[in-house]
Amino acid sequence: MKKLILGGRAIITGRGSIAELGNIQAGRAFIVTGGSAMQTSGIIAKLEAILQAAGCVTCVYGGIGKNPDTQAVLDGLASMRNFRPDVLVAVGGGSPIDAAKVMALFYDYPELDFACAQTAELPQARKQLQFVAIPSTSGTGTEVTRAAVITFRELELKIGLKTPAFIPDLAILDADITMTMPDNVVAETGMDALTHAVECYINRNADDVSAVLANGATAGLFAWLPVSYQERTIESREKVHHYQCMAGLAFDNTGLGMAHGISHALGGKFNLGHGLLNAIALPYVLAYNAQDPVVDGRLAELAQSIGRQGGSAFIAAVKELNRQLAIPASLAEAGITCAALEEDFAGLVENCLKGSTRANPVPVTAGQMAEILKHMH
Ligand code: NDP
Ligand code: MN
Repeated sequence: MKKLILGGRAIITGRGSIAELGNIQAGRAFIVTGGSAMQTSGIIAKLEAILQAAGCVTCVYGGIGKNPDTQAVLDGLASMRNFRPDVLVAVGGGSPIDAAKVMALFYDYPELDFACAQTAELPQARKQLQFVAIPSTSGTGTEVTRAAVITFRELELKIGLKTPAFIPDLAILDADITMTMPDNVVAETGMDALTHAVECYINRNADDVSAVLANGATAGLFAWLPVSYQERTIESREKVHHYQCMAGLAFDNTGLGMAHGISHALGGKFNLGHGLLNAIALPYVLAYNAQDPVVDGRLAELAQSIGRQGGSAFIAAVKELNRQLAIPASLAEAGITCAALEEDFAGLVENCLKGSTRANPVPVTAGQMAEILKHMH
């Protein structure tokens, strides 16, 4: 039996839909965001005005950067405890939203900490706090998933913590706020979404529901991501924003695969962007997985959805898309030197085998992982 969690999520879409926050029944709103993008674009001021007009007292907590670590969560939590909100509004990329997910859970369960979050089962639901997620990038799908990815610096590893309690009460998909994304963020986050869709589709846990979502998201992203990148139209931004959410709904029920295992290890070690690392890894990982005829057949189905034929044509299309989006073709091009890669290489390989790699459709040994990493470099 497999429990699908598709329902129970409230998702509001449409241009200007952040105004829906005005309907929130709350008195004190804690707004969590990233470095500076949402302040600069004026979105934070707008959200505060909407919430204040609805009678809410607001407090803005910014500065959650790329690959948020345990300390970033604990710092935010301390500030949140001082303010005592009844709603947390997370707005920004996956980094601040994921940090906010854990802050929200720890806020409701003061006895929780990162030591037990890694070892024990997490609570399955929040208690009091309402949680709203407003993604400003189009990639992670975190606004609808059970996952929060946090960097454990001492382990040089990003770990995906999972519980249904991380699913926001409300996700607002307002593509207007994605218009300010720099080109590289459009490209990298879009490729993160594509990686979700593809790793979901070839996953052994794939079921009819997630497969339809993943296949649709793959086709939609192939069609619209290049337009969003090159032409920057609101229509294309909106399409990609919706397809990345579909990919999130899809993979939340299957798990991912080796591209994510590799990207969580490299991200934890080198602090490079998550989408960038997935984009680089994906063609290599698919080539490895396509040795299995079942996986090759699944890739051929995805190929058909984008008007190509055969598994290898799908992998070639991924490479082409990467080129169109100016994604570096190797880790070296992304700035990782040979010396840096080789420093504690055995430890890196071991970390790459953890997490999502355990859900990879084809088993992988340490020796094979080492080869894949060398190829990627
Ligand atoms: P980030 O949240 O790290 O943001 C990347 C950059 O984009 C930042 O510099 C940010 O600036 C900037 N930015 C964000 N939105 C805008 C905008 N609208 N206009 C201009 N600049 C913008 O990137 P991602 O969204 O890719 O999130 C990645 C994280 O999500 C990773 O940690 C990854 O592991 C995790 N993840 C989580 C999943 C889940 O299910 N929970 C699934 C997949 C990935 P600033 O900091 O100034 O806001
Ligand atoms: Mn991802």
